[in-house]
Amino acid sequence: MQKIGFLGLGKMGAVMALRFIEAGFPLTVWNRSADKTEPLAAAGANVAATPAAVTDEADIVISMLRDDAAAEQVFFGHDGLLSTKAGGRLFIEMSTLRPVTARALAARCADSSAAFIDAPVSGTVGPAKEGKLMALVGGSAADLQRAQPALEVLTRRIVHAGPVGQGAMLKLALNLALAVYWQSLAEAAALGRAGGLELATILDAMADSGAAARVLPAKIPLILEGSDYAAFDVATMEKDAKSILETGIEFGVPMPTTSAALASYASAHAAGLGEADAVSIVRFLSDKFESRAKE
Ligand code: NAP
Repeated sequence: MQKIGFLGLGKMGAVMALRFIEAGFPLTVWNRSADKTEPLAAAGANVAATPAAVTDEADIVISMLRDDAAAEQVFFGHDGLLSTKAGGRLFIEMSTLRPVTARALAARCADSSAAFIDAPVSGTVGPAKEGKLMALVGGSAADLQRAQPALEVLTRRIVHAGPVGQGAMLKLALNLALAVYWQSLAEAAALGRAGGLELATILDAMADSGAAARVLPAKIPLILEGSDYAAFDVATMEKDAKSILETGIEFGVPMPTTSAALASYASAHAAGLGEADAVSIVRFLSDKFESRAKE
């Protein structure tokens, strides 16, 4: 059985890594904040002191990190994944990164005679726990075939988008639509509430109309009542919107609605909602118009 290494035990990584234990794979984990390795160690994982020690231990090394800077640090840093002999390993990078970063990581892996695929995911913590993510893969068919048994532990579907970087590109395209969807709903709510409609009435009718995204009905209670827990928060959507716009600049694609959405996520973050669910911009942008309608 392939020996798996897993780096990045945040909200997503913690539950993804656990699935390898449950599926019987030998697992070595590493996380920057060591305390997050404890539940995995209790479940039977080996804990590595450095990313390099994960490379030493594993055949397949999976990373699920915050952002591009984190991935560069973990791959290229002191005691990083590529600071030791990495030849023959397969690296599966599952964080949401810019395509240019995925290609840079792949090039340095190739320099070390190691293979690399980018495999960011669609789906949040619930689907991750159940192994029902969708992986969006960039890489060669041969490397994907090698990654398949590990990816199948985590996913309900694997989409081979093209060569390295194309998984990242597809993931950004998906998140663009989502980021803009919540922005459009926030504007619709602002208009309706300014005219005296209740937010609950707007969302209820919207969810049963052609204007509903599939994700909307399940998110209505979260929009109306908020929650102390957010699987996918405002700060993460802001990060992704920045990556989308930077990638748009690289490819010469103007994206005015993504720019508007980024402004909303950044304002919500600055107002203290960085850790709130990304859908909270619907209330954040529309609340002030309801009070204006009542004046
Ligand atoms: P998270 O809870 O914030 O976890 C981030 C992980 O990255 C933690 O393990 C953190 O370590 C680590 N990290 C951050 N900066 C680092 C650095 N400089 N060096 C080393 N490690 C670093 O994030 P998440 O929600 O699990 O998301 C992980 C990735 O998946 C992100 O790229 C996100 O965009 C993407 N994603 C998330 C969701 C979701 O629903 N949450 C869905 C799809 C995709 P510490 O524990 O030390 O902070």
